[in-house]
Parts: sequence; C-alpha cells; structure tokens
Amino acid sequence: MKTPTQTNAIDFDSAKLQRLGFGQPSLLPRHPATIFQLRQQLGMQLQTSLEPQHILAVFFREIQRLVPLDALQYRHEASDLRLEFGHRGHHSVSYSLSHEGEHLGELIFRRNQRLLEEELGQLESLLAALLYPMRNALLYRAATRSALRDPLTDTGNRIAMDQTLQREIDMARRHMSPLSLLMLDIDHFKTINDTHGHAAGDNVLRAVAGAIKGQLRNVDMVFRFGGEEFLILLSNTGRDAAAMVGERLRHAAQTQDYRAEGTRIELTVSLGCSTLLAAESAESLLRRADNALYVAKREGRNRLAMAG
Ligand code: GH3
Ligand code: MG
Ligand code: MG
Repeated sequence: MKTPTQTNAIDFDSAKLQRLGFGQPSLLPRHPATIFQLRQQLGMQLQTSLEPQHILAVFFREIQRLVPLDALQYRHEASDLRLEFGHRGHHSVSYSLSHEGEHLGELIFRRNQRLLEEELGQLESLLAALLYPMRNALLYRAATRSALRDPLTDTGNRIAMDQTLQREIDMARRHMSPLSLLMLDIDHFKTINDTHGHAAGDNVLRAVAGAIKGQLRNVDMVFRFGGEEFLILLSNTGRDAAAMVGERLRHAAQTQDYRAEGTRIELTVSLGCSTLLAAESAESLLRRADNALYVAKREGRNRLAMAG
C-alpha cells in the first residue's frame, strides 16, 4: 500500500511563537488537554532534559492528549540521530525543523487514520515547544561528542578510549566473547617531522588514521593514543584473527601514498597485539600490547608482535 506523505517545513523564526504567561495553576488535568494547557506544560517539561531521546519521548507522549498518533520518527543526519517511538501508521506527515537557518532535524508523525486539517494545525502549534529544547540538546550532543574526538585525525581520544575499553571488556565478559587490542606506532616518525616539517607530519598522521579506518568495519574503535600511536579495539576477535587484522593494517599503512611537496614519503608502522585474559584488567591488557609493541620495535620495526 502506498503511504500518503505530506511534507512541510517549519521555520521557527517565522512561526508565531505564542508567549505564554507563567504563574498559572500547575495541577493540570492529565487527559485530555487544551492546546493552551499543553503548550504551557510542554514548554516547562521539555526544558528539563538535554537528551534528544527523552525530549522526544515526552513530546510524543504529551501531544497525544490532544492528537492521538501511532508513531513519531525523528532524523538528524548531522548528529547521526535516528529515533523512533510507537508503531508505524499508514498515514504520515513530515516536518523539517529549522531555526535561524540551522537544520534541527526532520519529524514524521504517523497514524493509521488520516490526520485532519485541524489536527495538523494543532501539531504545528505544539512543534514550537520543541524548538529550544531540541536545539540545546543537539548543541550539547555535538559538544560532548567533540570532547571525545581527536580533531587532527578524527579518531577517538584518550577519554573516549578509556570509556570504550572498559565497556568492551565488560561486554566481552558478559557474552564470553574474545576481545583483542592492537597498539600501532609509526616507525621513525621523528625523522619525518625533521625532514619534511611538522605540517607534513600532521598530514601523515591524518593519512595513517585514514589507512587504519579504511581497513576496519567499526571505525568507532580507533583511538589516538599518543602523538603518533593509535589503539585499535577488536571486539569479538580472538588472537589469530587479531593477528590477521594487525598484518592488514601494517600493510595498508605501508602502501598508503604519503607525499610532502610532491615527493613520496616512505613509512612503516609497528604493532603490538594482546588478547583479553580471564579476569584481566584494562591496564594489564594495555600494558601487554605496549610490551609487544616494544618487542616489534626491538626486532627491527615494520612488524607485528603478539603478547605472550
Ligand atoms: P620509533 O620508531 O621508535 O617509534 O621512533 P619515532 O621517531 O616514531 O618515535 P619518537 O617517540 O622518538 O618520536 C615521535 C615523534 O612524534 C616526536 C614528536 O615530535 C612527534 N609528534 C607527536 N605528536 C605529533 C603531532 O601531533 N604532529 C606531528 N607532526 N608530530 C608529532
Ligand atoms: Mg614512533
Ligand atoms: Mg611512539
């Protein structure tokens, strides 16, 4: 069956944002509500959270006191957000939300029964209550996400690594699945800096990160560990499979085309690999990968060494 879809754009700058007086009685009846009561209540409720999931869940629940719905979907590509509440209905109406030229996402209301003109008007009026809470939640999300990224290489930073490593260890224990770790260090990187300059060195760091990410399914598990060192977490991967991934990364980093002012830069990397032992701590798992990396360096670089 074809799903009828109406598309609308709501620009909050031009939408009439009705001012609501405060100091009204706060004990509002739960069901049903007038549009005035609902707008006032939503305005207060939605401000209490910076979590898009929570804000939209409350919004979806509360607006149904006025307009019954089957589902609400929300998408914001820039934040990598896709949320869905309820079960899909046949009819849908979608709104593209924006404020001062900034895209705040797309909302789709769904219902098995057609939405009436009057109901659409009510939904549009209620959408205004989402404006500032959603904008603040998206800003907060962007800020917390960037606090976990290394801006030069667009990999996770140390804070992200600490959080992810502990979470992955807990998961591996719970599901009794293997977990491996690769520590990768660029060989003689100081020489690249000394020969071609720091800016060229930065480009090489970015390119190595790109080569690593190009080889992995889950790019969220790559972290910049130190200056020219990366850590790769391999969930559900035992020792032998991790050795194969490590070898693939070594090869990819070596064959990547690095250039400074037109001349090709030769580069190799060394890797150390450890696989989680029963009852092992994050620190110990990291230490064993680091020790293996040290062995790879000592044995001549451009190689992978496995932790004992
Ligand atoms: P090895 O093969 O033993 O690893 O030798 P190496 O030269 O790679 O190791 P060393 O630890 O001696 O030097 C690492 C260099 O990485 C030193 C530091 O100046 C450089 N470095 C660290 N962070 C950055 C960065 O963000 N950008 C650039 N361009 N260089 C960096
Ligand atoms: Mg190095
Ligand atoms: Mg190093």
